[in-house]
Amino acid sequence: MIPAAFDYRRASSLSEALQLLSEGGEDAKLIAGGHSLLPLMKLRLSSPSTLVDIGRLSDLSYVREDGDRVAIGALTRHRDLQTSDLLRSHVPLIAHVAGQVGDPQVRHRGTIGGSIAHGDPASDLPAACLALGATFKVEGPGGKRAIDASDFFQGFLETALSPDEVLVEVSVPKFTGVGWSFQKFNRRAQDWAIVGVAALGGDSPGLGLINMGPIPVRATAVESALASGANAAEAATHASDGLDPPSDLNATPEYRRHLAEVLVRRALEEAGTA
Ligand code: FAD
Repeated sequence: MIPAAFDYRRASSLSEALQLLSEGGEDAKLIAGGHSLLPLMKLRLSSPSTLVDIGRLSDLSYVREDGDRVAIGALTRHRDLQTSDLLRSHVPLIAHVAGQVGDPQVRHRGTIGGSIAHGDPASDLPAACLALGATFKVEGPGGKRAIDASDFFQGFLETALSPDEVLVEVSVPKFTGVGWSFQKFNRRAQDWAIVGVAALGGDSPGLGLINMGPIPVRATAVESALASGANAAEAATHASDGLDPPSDLNATPEYRRHLAEVLVRRALEEAGTA
């Protein structure tokens, strides 16, 4: 439970963070809230040579209007998402999901950028970003780029981010008044989801699934079934099409497939898609 030795550098600006990352090379890592990275380091599953601390970059902590979208700074803590009036009005799914992450201590430390960049299939916010069709804005030595949520998650804890890039903003379309649902199945209130579903209703429903594969996934087979006129129960039978849910102490793959169908049906009904 003791991490390997590492150098620690605190960045006071985004440009300094980028500089420190490139100086540290491939083994340097950003740390934001530390609530996913530090456990990995304590288990020696990650041993960065240098930690570049961006946790105090308050410039990257914001929720603000951006035309027909809402812009969320990568350093925004889950608690600030949960209590944001702007999100509650225009993207209530994000505010609600953030309020379901862990416990109050976790929500006061963890950041949306850390949750997305970590790419854990068991995390809640990546599924919401997939359902909403979010875009991730990234900066690196080569400049700025934007990555669609559906292209971002590439392998177990692997994303489209390069080691020298920083995720700076999560941009989500406004869905004012559109139905939504978040179904998180766990045994105790503050546990991680065994399986979860984030759903957006409206004319183009979107669904993100938690813990149904090695990466956060979009339920494209359900979305296609809905587009072809299926009702909630029919569409939900496609919840695990093409997916390979994991087996662990909490659930077998078969149990996860069953949960996904039940939770997708409930989510579609609550979001008012069918
Ligand atoms: P860190 O741990 O600091 O970083 C995680 C990874 O992202 C690292 O690889 C880091 O280099 C990288 N990174 C961080 N910020 C950036 C950035 N801006 N750009 C590029 N890379 C970056 N999560 C859930 O979804 N649901 C839960 O129920 C849940 N329960 C939890 C319970 C406990 C007890 C704990 C400790 C954590 C739990 N979490 C849960 C995880 C929590 O939400 C984390 O805060 C979050 O996943 C990571 O955010 P962080 O800011 O702590 O990231």
